[in-house]
Amino acid sequence: MAFINEDYLKLPGSYLFAEIAKRVSSFKNDNPEADIIRLGIGDVTKPLVPAVISAMHKAVDDMACAETFRGYGPDQGYDFLIQKVIECDYKSRGISLGEDEVFISDGAKSDVANFQEIFSGENIVALTDPVYPVYLDTNVMAGRTGNLGQDGKFDGIVYLPCNGENNFTPTLPESKVDMIYLCFPNNPTGLTLSKAELKKWVDYARENGAVILFDSAYEAYITEPDIPHSIYEVDGARECAIEFRSFSKLAGFTGTRCAYTIVPKTVMAKTKGGESHPLNKLWNRRQATKFNGVPYIVQRGAEAVYSPEGQAQIKEIIAYYMANAKIIRDGLVEAGLQIYGGVNAPYLWLKTPNQMDSWDFFDKLLHEANVVGTPGSGFGPSGAGYFRLTAFGSRENTQEAINRIKTRLSI
Ligand code: PLP
Repeated sequence: MAFINEDYLKLPGSYLFAEIAKRVSSFKNDNPEADIIRLGIGDVTKPLVPAVISAMHKAVDDMACAETFRGYGPDQGYDFLIQKVIECDYKSRGISLGEDEVFISDGAKSDVANFQEIFSGENIVALTDPVYPVYLDTNVMAGRTGNLGQDGKFDGIVYLPCNGENNFTPTLPESKVDMIYLCFPNNPTGLTLSKAELKKWVDYARENGAVILFDSAYEAYITEPDIPHSIYEVDGARECAIEFRSFSKLAGFTGTRCAYTIVPKTVMAKTKGGESHPLNKLWNRRQATKFNGVPYIVQRGAEAVYSPEGQAQIKEIIAYYMANAKIIRDGLVEAGLQIYGGVNAPYLWLKTPNQMDSWDFFDKLLHEANVVGTPGSGFGPSGAGYFRLTAFGSRENTQEAINRIKTRLSI
């Protein structure tokens, strides 16, 4: 008899997107003529830029020739890409990294999901609420939590509420925690942390021997000065933080798959006997065993993101999405809604009017404006009463959606 990992049974079904699809399809059945606009998408809509495409074409040709063919690549990624990451994403900000501190991967999702494996099952996990669900779900699967309670929270997890009352800035936990997930710019709230705020977390982690798992998948969307792009801009972070980055939202690689994780050799964790071990060595061991690298063609495409043409082309696309974000932001303010985010992130987080439940607002928006977004409660208990819109749609759809909200939505 094979037994299952019963921790999986603690997870509710993938309710959020299934429920959205169900409500949209039922509305469409009743209103076949309605032209529905989706402002809930978390995927990019613009194609890969020409610099990436031509590098990938060339790499395909390399694969066709015995002299330039590549089979299994290095588990940690090709030097040509690792060197670009170090030079362009870190050295340019005064951060120095060794080549063996960068791990190229097939996605920030897999890395943030897998990284918890190298920690003890007994660690206490803290995460911001609302949250990108992967941090929570993977720790549930790993048995680091109890059951899901009536309040929508898993026992054993330390939730760090981020809401209008605390300006979406998490406060340090009152009880001691060991692993802290932070994501800034944040999905879903679209908000960031200042360097001073981030420093408080780094200090906490160092004082308590905790590790920060910092997801900066949206750093390319930061437009304001003084917002840290990397946690390593904060003194002391090299001793306590892992950083996850991705080419997905940076350069449209959501379907192409490429990301990287920084694991400084100075980040240590202990055995129960008190012996310190570098996480870099454990992560390297884990990847060497379970991962066989990102395809050569994809890594050549990612390398091209750093070329002068690649940089100009991706910046144009990011500016396009951020112009959408401004249209949403300005339009919703005009419509009398309270709105957050959208300045340093492609996500906009709005407070539902009149304390409306997130799902009631979903229905209202769908029925009155034929616009689809994402109920905030789907991202955690503190998302209740909020709603997420994204800037990844086309300009035309974004403008039309906002016009409809302004003219049709009764608030
Ligand atoms: N991290 C956050 C916060 C995200 O919102 C997403 C995707 O939506 C990811 C990671 C996933 O990135 P990737 O496409 O590199 O797996």
